[in-house]
Amino acid sequence: MTDTKQSLVILGSTGSVGQSTLKVIQLHPEKYDVVGLTANTNVNDMLAQCRQFKPQTVVMTEAQSAAELSLLLAQHGMSDITVESGADALTKLAAESAVSTVMSAIVGAAGLEPTLAAVRAGKRVLIANKEPLVMTGDLFMREAEASGAVILPIDSEHNAIFQCLPEDQSQRAVRKIHLTASGGPFRGRPWSDLQNITPDQACAHPNWSMGRKISVDSATMMNKGLELIEAAALFQISARKVEILIHPQSIIHSMVEYVDGSFLAQLGAPDMCIPIAHALAWPDRIRSGAETLDLAAIAQLDFHTPDMTNLPCLRLAREAADAGQSAPAILNAANEVAVDAFLQKKIRFTDIASVVADTLTAMPVTPVNSLENVLNIDNEARRVACASLESRLI
Ligand code: NAD
Ligand code: MG
Repeated sequence: MTDTKQSLVILGSTGSVGQSTLKVIQLHPEKYDVVGLTANTNVNDMLAQCRQFKPQTVVMTEAQSAAELSLLLAQHGMSDITVESGADALTKLAAESAVSTVMSAIVGAAGLEPTLAAVRAGKRVLIANKEPLVMTGDLFMREAEASGAVILPIDSEHNAIFQCLPEDQSQRAVRKIHLTASGGPFRGRPWSDLQNITPDQACAHPNWSMGRKISVDSATMMNKGLELIEAAALFQISARKVEILIHPQSIIHSMVEYVDGSFLAQLGAPDMCIPIAHALAWPDRIRSGAETLDLAAIAQLDFHTPDMTNLPCLRLAREAADAGQSAPAILNAANEVAVDAFLQKKIRFTDIASVVADTLTAMPVTPVNSLENVLNIDNEARRVACASLESRLI
């Protein structure tokens, strides 16, 4: 990838990962051309990004936001930027022939169709948006194999694993993958004490600054559960070979253990610009702008095994990974519904686990064999999760 400039679309450019991606790109204007940006409703941030990066096309999912942005762009002399709206426009942009690379950084299942469109079009696809992989698993990876799409993980743990696996990504000699977890803001606190946690408390992560949905997932540890399923899908490895290790400092981003007893780890400051720069440049390396790691100042790295009896969301995710088929998609949909309700202060923090458990209990586990099939399961799980919410409203 050294000589040719990559033409890039960022799905979810106004989010935390989207903004970090633009921060890295800004350091290397000779290597990356931003051709498309997308967001849900954040018109002001999108206007600022248009002024700085001059994309050819912008998609605002909401029609009203697209209309507002068009007006503002005209006022600022940027009418040459095409503004579109709606989910179909997202999917079209992700698959456009002039695009070489797609950063998938929408949050939640909303990113499934555009990400899959980029995969089917054989793009270089940088995956931050983990929910689509959780939902579709093998189906997603089979599509990538068929189209020749290059999948590069952005989630810091998966990016670390990618870096610690052999170049051909083969797992022949891998004994285990050790997925590290900071433990989130409530590490060590009994689950039953977390009833009255507010959304702002849940979103105050000690090491990472992220969007609100993933921040809540980190606080419940569902994020690590989703990552367990994500790792099994991405690296085509049994979820049973993926161990979770609490590592409060978030310096070792994950490890691969080989049959000879060697452990390979990737270390770095907890800054998403590092995995983003890695995936943008792979197989080369570029500057990320992140601070370097001062291990002497950090002095100590701690590790311990998670107490699964106190982490219901992680336990549910492990069970869903073991059940396979539609169980991860059900888990994901119920979790999205529950986290959204918690962020809107409709249910308690601890009820997130209850809504997910109710939904998994109520729905049968069935095979996942097409996109349409996954979307139906996702819809049904959302309906069941909403019914479970009703009995828990505060
Ligand atoms: P965020 O909430 O900060 O940003 C989400 C982006 O998606 C925004 O641009 C928003 O406009 C857009 N969006 C939201 N809903 C949409 C919809 N319905 N349709 C179209 N666009 C929509 O989220 P984030 O923290 O950047 O996370 C993005 C994804 O990356 C998530 O799946 C998350 O799990 C994953 N991830 C994030 C981090 C991190 O450090 N933030 C780390 C690892 C993985
Ligand atoms: Mg992660």
